[in-house]
Amino acid sequence: MTDLPMPTIRRDVLTPDMLAASSCSTGLVAAPWTIDQQGPAYGPGASESDQIPVNAPVQGSIPEEYRKASDEELHERIARAKATLGDRVVVLGHFYQRDEIVQHADFLGDSFQLARAALTKQDAEYIVFCGVHFMAETADILSKPEQAVVLPNLAAGCSMADMADVAGVEDCWEQLGSVLGDLSTPDETGKMPVIPITYMNSSAALKAFVGRHGGVVCTSSNAEVVLEKAFQKAHRVLFFPDQHLGRNTGRAMGIPLEKMPMWKPNQPLGGYGNTADSLRDSKVILWHGFCSVHERFTVEQVEAARAAFPNVRVIAHPECPMEVIDAADEAGSTDYIQRAVKSAEPGTVFAIGTEITMVNRLAQQHPEHTIFCLDPVVCPCSTMYRIHPAYLAWVLEELVAGRIVNQISVPEDQARDAKLALDRMLEAAPRK
Ligand code: SF4
Repeated sequence: MTDLPMPTIRRDVLTPDMLAASSCSTGLVAAPWTIDQQGPAYGPGASESDQIPVNAPVQGSIPEEYRKASDEELHERIARAKATLGDRVVVLGHFYQRDEIVQHADFLGDSFQLARAALTKQDAEYIVFCGVHFMAETADILSKPEQAVVLPNLAAGCSMADMADVAGVEDCWEQLGSVLGDLSTPDETGKMPVIPITYMNSSAALKAFVGRHGGVVCTSSNAEVVLEKAFQKAHRVLFFPDQHLGRNTGRAMGIPLEKMPMWKPNQPLGGYGNTADSLRDSKVILWHGFCSVHERFTVEQVEAARAAFPNVRVIAHPECPMEVIDAADEAGSTDYIQRAVKSAEPGTVFAIGTEITMVNRLAQQHPEHTIFCLDPVVCPCSTMYRIHPAYLAWVLEELVAGRIVNQISVPEDQARDAKLALDRMLEAAPRK
């Protein structure tokens, strides 16, 4: 057997001492509302040290009765409020949400699946999105105007999404125009000089930018299909904010690394030694963004898993660095990982490179396999972690009382343009 640490412990039963020994941040033992009272911060967890935008939403205090309630009481209050609201509410839960939240979700999925799920519940008055800010924005854009989308904790952002803002992308677009010519019309070959592609993990403002410029949103499930379609219309793509998903997808399609220059925002020609010639010669221009959760995975962790279990099947999420993808056996989205585990022969050993909460849940749901996270340290996505049952109970009981709190509303003009890019995404179904 193995001496690899197996992070199957539940965070809700961790003591401070255990956390200090096994997790990336002792702050994980504290309730999320201790951070909410401190101003903008991502909170303890994988993206704790990332730079947060100054205008990031702040949650503020939730009533004391929720902060003091026991786990059992919160569970009962959520279930009761949901039963009272009935079909008037739909609760969506991302794979990275804690189990105490997931058990109340009507739909569990990745961002692509939840975007589709929101579309199937057009009669629900309220969509409560247990995920992060950009996902709730997307649900608001795709839902009917009379539906209200609620994010239980306003401070549940995404550090990767925050690494690209409209000002930086517009500056990049202008600079690319100075090198590639008029970006709004096809050249003599009938192709556009460049098409913008944004990962789902981006603000509505960026999705709107992409929609206005003939681009498309992609997810980790359909990135390759989206890129293939884009290359039928354009010579190259500008891909933001996740460099790793862009690079890993480009490489899987046979694009050499030298044709995928990086772009650092607000630098002349994006820095990194870029020149007008290197940009003209590019196929995928990669934004300088990343997910702090998936950047934690390393080749050494893959090697340790193989040393402990020679027959291990290593699956890494495409937000992981390229070297990790190369060392793994497979790369795939959260949906791909779920399906791989479900369809495997009993007794399969999996080392998985994605968010710890989802890996732990898979391990519990599939005792017929051995499943562990590549990263031996318990380190959840710090912002997903901020959706605590106290917030879900609060927003649901407010809805029962006829009050909508924490509503996410995308301005109409932004929503109209962003929807163009999202509709193009929904047409690009992932390959199974
Ligand atoms: S796991 Fe990474 S990309 Fe996903 S919400 Fe968290 S920080 Fe953002």
